[in-house]
Amino acid sequence: MLIDTHCHLADPAYEPDRQQVLDRAWAAGLSRVVVIGESPTRAESALELARSEPRLVATAGIHPHDARDWSASSETWLRGMLRDPRVVAVGETGLDFHYDHSPRPAQRQAFESQLAIAADTGRPVVIHAREADEEVAAILANHPAVTAILHSFSSGMGLLRAGLVHRHYVSFSGMVTFKNWRLDEAIRETPLDRLLLETDGPYLAPVPHRGQRNEPAFVAHVAARLAAVRGISVDELIAVTGRNAKQVFSLLTSH
Ligand SMILES: [Zn+2]
Repeated sequence: MLIDTHCHLADPAYEPDRQQVLDRAWAAGLSRVVVIGESPTRAESALELARSEPRLVATAGIHPHDARDWSASSETWLRGMLRDPRVVAVGETGLDFHYDHSPRPAQRQAFESQLAIAADTGRPVVIHAREADEEVAAILANHPAVTAILHSFSSGMGLLRAGLVHRHYVSFSGMVTFKNWRLDEAIRETPLDRLLLETDGPYLAPVPHRGQRNEPAFVAHVAARLAAVRGISVDELIAVTGRNAKQVFSLLTSH
């Protein structure tokens, strides 16, 4: 039931040894990995991976960094991708006002459009939020039909609470193992039935792998840290987050 709900496995960082990375994931007890497709090229590679390995599923979307690329043809493309049942979510999308790699109006437009497509197609949305808490909360509130996953959560408690009001999910990454992590309160305040685990590989490798390339097998360190904060056993934490991942991404048990 150990599931990494967010790994950029289509990233070139895994090109040399992707199969070994996957072998280590299965050996570490993972049952599924959600492969994030944050651009058309990556999403198509993610889907290809999901076609070749039944324990992988894909997402498709356009990252806020690349929001300037969003156009009418992106919409057609994304709707086409979502016809494949292996594409289980839209994203990652959202707002990043820290880097501002794309102009903010373009970020807003790409985010809103992807939320509308998610609502139409009944898929959840993987959300990237950085230094844009209030606006992300406000935009999500305008799309009440959409289920969101606040990914690699490191935002403020305001966004957490606004999300939980709408029964959104909160996914924690290796950041929870870092010395400068200050958000145990967010781990404690997220109801157990909304909690998810992720690596966000190849980035954010948890301690004791900090600074290395991250990979799905390392999600066990995130599970251990969340279990400690919640005061429950690691097995229970893995069971409950696994159920949540299956629920939100509609992962069939037969796979
Ligand atoms: Zn990501």
